Amino acid sequence: MVGEYHQYIREIKEYAKNEKIPIMQEEGIDFLTTFIIKHQIRNILEIGTAIGYSAIMMALCHPTIKVTSIERDEARYLEALKNIKKFHLEDRITLIFKDALDVKLDGEFDLIFIDAAKAQDIKFFQLFTRNLTPNGYVITDNMYFHGLVEKNEKEIKSHNLRGLVKKIKEYITFLNTNTEYNTTIYRIGDGIAVSEKKQ
Ligand code: SAH
Ligand code: MG
Repeated sequence: MVGEYHQYIREIKEYAKNEKIPIMQEEGIDFLTTFIIKHQIRNILEIGTAIGYSAIMMALCHPTIKVTSIERDEARYLEALKNIKKFHLEDRITLIFKDALDVKLDGEFDLIFIDAAKAQDIKFFQLFTRNLTPNGYVITDNMYFHGLVEKNEKEIKSHNLRGLVKKIKEYITFLNTNTEYNTTIYRIGDGIAVSEKKQ
């Protein structure tokens, strides 16, 4: 990677910090990119682009990787487009500006990365695993939700947050009881679930 790119990455991270955009944490992105390289992933679907940080980091893992990424927030989508151009990745990263729940895709992906509204994780999983190759993986971010998932529910003051945490717990149960997929949740970053289709 040329020096210029390092500077752009720094700028994207800085922007995310200032605008409070929840991009993947350092540890999480390291895990994700290492996983992509190790498993020779080539076609990725991402739910939740934000400003394109993780999409760019994933695309940079290998020159033949293609990423399709969905974002429903217009300002973020536009910022992501701008960032992707800086890296000259517009041929390899396709952005879809839509609510993911309204998206129907035809393509096949060997990795689906779910990192959007946590309350909808089960729906995203059910909707998009149709597009997963037989040896594909689903990776979901924020399984600990800033440590709240492991906290006693009574300690969470906000009603909305309690609801969200409940949804994440339901998703974890959904994964753990899913007869078609084996799931491991890693204590990395904000908690990362890796689900693999049973052979
Ligand atoms: N993957 C990004 C961070 C994504 S943050 C990174 O690590 O760089 C989550 C994003 O998902 C937000 O920008 C939010 O607008 C988007 N999002 C949430 N629910 C969505 C939905 N139903 N459809 C599309 N985008 C959604
Ligand atoms: Mg996340």
